[in-house]
Amino acid sequence: MGGLVSRVVVFEFDAATWEVLTPLMEAGELPNLSALKAEGASGLLRSIIPRWSPALWTTIYSGKVRSKHGVEGFDATSESVRVKRLWDIAEQAGLKCGVFGTPVCWPPTDKCAFMIPDVLVDRGSETVPPEYSRLQDMYWARRHSMLEYARDLYDLWRIGVRTRHLSRMIWERLLLAARRSGTVEKYWRQRLWWTAIHSDVFLRLYHQHQPDLATFDYQATDTIQHRYWHYYDPERFGIPLVKAEPYRDVLPASYREADRIVGEIRKAAGPDATLVVLSDHGGAPAEGLGQFIEARLEKWVATLGIGRAATPIRLVGEYCLEFHDPSYLAETQRTLEQVHMKESGQRLFRGFAQRDGHLMLYPIRDHIEGNTVVVPGHGEHPFEELFHRLDAEHSGVHHSDGMFIVAGPPIRAGVELEPGSILDVTPNLLVILGLSVAKDMDGRVWEPMFKPSFLAQSPIRFIETYETAQCEEKGVL
Ligand SMILES: [Zn+2]
Repeated sequence: MGGLVSRVVVFEFDAATWEVLTPLMEAGELPNLSALKAEGASGLLRSIIPRWSPALWTTIYSGKVRSKHGVEGFDATSESVRVKRLWDIAEQAGLKCGVFGTPVCWPPTDKCAFMIPDVLVDRGSETVPPEYSRLQDMYWARRHSMLEYARDLYDLWRIGVRTRHLSRMIWERLLLAARRSGTVEKYWRQRLWWTAIHSDVFLRLYHQHQPDLATFDYQATDTIQHRYWHYYDPERFGIPLVKAEPYRDVLPASYREADRIVGEIRKAAGPDATLVVLSDHGGAPAEGLGQFIEARLEKWVATLGIGRAATPIRLVGEYCLEFHDPSYLAETQRTLEQVHMKESGQRLFRGFAQRDGHLMLYPIRDHIEGNTVVVPGHGEHPFEELFHRLDAEHSGVHHSDGMFIVAGPPIRAGVELEPGSILDVTPNLLVILGLSVAKDMDGRVWEPMFKPSFLAQSPIRFIETYETAQCEEKGVL
C-alpha cells in the first residue's frame, strides 16, 4: 500500500438518531461510539423520501437519486439496481470487498470476497461463499423439535458464532418458554440474538478475508424502535410507568449492542482503517400508538376475482397467494401495488416477492389514515373488510434526520459537520478509498471532514461516470 488509501468499514446503523444517542453517550453507556465521535467527524445525515430502506441504501451506496438507480420496494433484487454501487466500483479498481446484510444484494455476486444478503424478505438463501446459505435458511425456518434446534446451534458454532452468544440464546429461550412469555418479551430478545449471530459471522469473515471495503448491516435499532418507543418514553404516550418499566431499557439496549459491535469491528479493522457509522434514516416517536395490519387474504381473493386461480396461504406475519394459474400472478401484483387509502393516498403494501408461482405480500407497518381502501379496477372497500389491525403496538417511526460518525487516518478529529445528505456518502467514501468521484453522482464531498494533509497527498479527483464499461485506472495500490 502506498499509504494514501484507507481501508473502510461501514456500520449500517438503521434508524439511529442523535435524540437517543446523545443522552446515552453522556451517561457513558456507549463507550465505543463516544470514542469514535471524539476521534472523528460527526453530524446529522438527512434522509430522502420515501424512507424505504432498500431505496435508501441503494442511494447511499450509489450516490444517486432513486430515478437513476431504479430501486423502490422490498421486493427489489440486485438485478433491479441500474447503477454501479460502491463495491462494484471498488472491486473494478482492484479492491477487495465484503458485504454483510446490506439491503438489495440478493442474488449475491462472487466478485465480492463475501456477500451475505439481507433477510428483510424471505427469498433465495444464496450467499458468497455458499457455505453461509444455511445461516439464511435458519433465519426463516420454524423449528419443530429440540433435535432441529440443536442442529442449528451446532451449525452456527461451525460458522463462527461464539459459545457465549449461543449459551445466552439457549438460556433466554428456556426462560421465555418457562415463563410462557408473550411477543413483547420475545420480540426484542430474538432481534438481539440474531444481531449477535450476524456480528460473530461478520467478524469471522472479516478476519478471514481482510477486505479493503466492508459493510455490516445492523437492523435491530429500527425494528426495536418501531415497537418499543412508548416504553422508552412512556410519559409522552400516556403509558402507566408500571407497564413501561420492564421494557424501558429495550431501545437503549439495542444501541448498546450496536456499540459493542462497533468496538469489536474497530479492533478487527485496526488503526489504519476508517470506520463509518451511519443511518439510512433517523427514528422518532410516533404521534400516537399505531398498529400493524394483517391482510384478510380470503377477502382479497374474492375482491380481485381470482378465486379459481389462486389459493391464500397465511403464515405467521406473512401473506402468500399460491397461483394454480400463473398467468394471473403479474396482473395481481400490479393491482396490489396500486392499492391505497382513499383519504390519504397511502399505499398499503410495502413490497412483494415472487417465487415458484407464489406471490408474497408485505403490508405496510405505518399508521393508517382513513377508512376506505381503493382497489383499482375492483372498487372501494371499508378498511376492516380487507385488513385487520393487529395487537402489536407501533410507536416509533422513521424520521428524516439520521446520523453519521466517521473516524480514521484521513479524518479530522472532534469536528461536527454541517448536516449532510445520504447522497453524499459514496462520494466521500470514494475519497477515503483513494478513488475518483463521478460527476454523475448527486452527492458532494465534505471537504471540511478531511485533514488538509490527507487532501494534499490525495487530492479529490473526478471522472465523468463509472457507468461505462471502462474501469478506472488503479491509483496507489
Ligand atoms: Zn423501519
